Amino acid sequence: MQISVIGCGYLGAVHAACMAKLGHDVVGIDVDERKIADLAAGKAPFFEPGLEELLLEVQATGRLTFTTDMSAAQGSTVHFVCVGTPQKKGENAADMTYVDAATQALLPYLSAGDVVVGKSTVPVGTAARLAELVLQQEPKAHLAWNPEFLREGHAVKDTLTPDRFVYGVHEGSEDHAAVAALDEVYSTPLGMGTRRLVADYATAELVKAAANSFLATKISFINAMAEVCEAAGADVTVLADAIGLDDRIGRKFLNAGIGFGGGCLPKDIRAFMARAGELGADQALTFLREVDAINMRRRTRTVELTRELCGGVLMGQRITVLGAAFKPDSDDVRDSPALSIAAQLQLQGAVVTVTDPESLGNAARRFPELNYEANTEEALRNADAVLLLTEWKEYRHLDPHETRDLVGNARILDGRNALDPQKWRAAGWTYRGVGRP
Ligand code: NAD
Repeated sequence: MQISVIGCGYLGAVHAACMAKLGHDVVGIDVDERKIADLAAGKAPFFEPGLEELLLEVQATGRLTFTTDMSAAQGSTVHFVCVGTPQKKGENAADMTYVDAATQALLPYLSAGDVVVGKSTVPVGTAARLAELVLQQEPKAHLAWNPEFLREGHAVKDTLTPDRFVYGVHEGSEDHAAVAALDEVYSTPLGMGTRRLVADYATAELVKAAANSFLATKISFINAMAEVCEAAGADVTVLADAIGLDDRIGRKFLNAGIGFGGGCLPKDIRAFMARAGELGADQALTFLREVDAINMRRRTRTVELTRELCGGVLMGQRITVLGAAFKPDSDDVRDSPALSIAAQLQLQGAVVTVTDPESLGNAARRFPELNYEANTEEALRNADAVLLLTEWKEYRHLDPHETRDLVGNARILDGRNALDPQKWRAAGWTYRGVGRP
């Protein structure tokens, strides 16, 4: 099929490359000239495992091109809208200006039978609104909403073999032309048994908001348990293992730590609350305010734990932060709890050095006031305290004996409960985890 992908960020660039991998002819379109130049040269503009190899592989087939020119969408039959929906400045709601601008820019290039497919995470009601615009422009075109569930760090695999597809179409009708078009786009994963659910627009939009709210709630639940465990002298990691063995609960997303961040969960639960308020259903989601508050409290708590670890004073303490990305295997620092904690420590007088295998460039653009060191050993040298805040594999596998020889004071705060406390204590470290004695 001929496909256009509008917006080539963390979602769109991966989607474009994966659609070409599935055998389609794809044009990726973005307003960011630098990103498009990188992508056109087979270079991933951000770190995502496997993306660069995939870009090179599919570009060699001639099935994937990139441009900043929206007219290149003409001739495609399916147009995926993958632009950003960040939080509005000073408000909880989502900023829809990019989705609206991208859709408007696409309209003149639509032909009869085309399907515009929204993938961005949007407030419920957006698809119905945009469907009208599409129909006004081209009465024989269609709009569908196909929310994306990929995880950064696993984006290529999640796009090629997702655990489900959700198609939101007018009135949720199975015999809608958009359903047939999406079935053709995704025929390979569907043929491998991936489930697909057809829903009306509002349900499809709400599936994404509900999924992220549930995940955020699970993380904040275990972090609330960590707070109680800390007060009671109990161990949240054992608690999580024990409750996680109940398959109604499940062990995934029950890791206590410094909380969630990134370009999705925080802004998505806030946008969901804002939208529910507009719909008069705000009471239904007041619990998400608590989920958000528990999450943000982890950051201040981590600063306090660091102060305790440093003997009650942060002023002048040399602190090494391991990890800046919001999660391992990504260079995404949007609303990264690690960087937020590093910045708060620095504000309180500590001398903070941040290291990360992939995200130092992005981190330095967001927080230029912090010190950055790419080499882990150099970053650790003479530290008064070490904070493991993003659990990259190389940090989980640090040798406590070798690391002790580098630092000034052998104190570690394991913000992700990713290390073995016994091993670190046995090597002479003062070890603090989250929600464990
Ligand atoms: P991003 O900021 O990395 O990418 C957005 C891209 O859209 C940018 O490259 C930007 O230049 C481009 N853009 C903006 N306006 C445009 C326009 N008018 N025309 C063409 N391109 C335009 O954001 P992202 O992380 O890729 O997220 C995109 C959407 O996908 C968001 O709604 C997000 O919530 C959702 N989503 C993201 C993920 C994820 O893991 N990143 C997962 C699921 C859903």
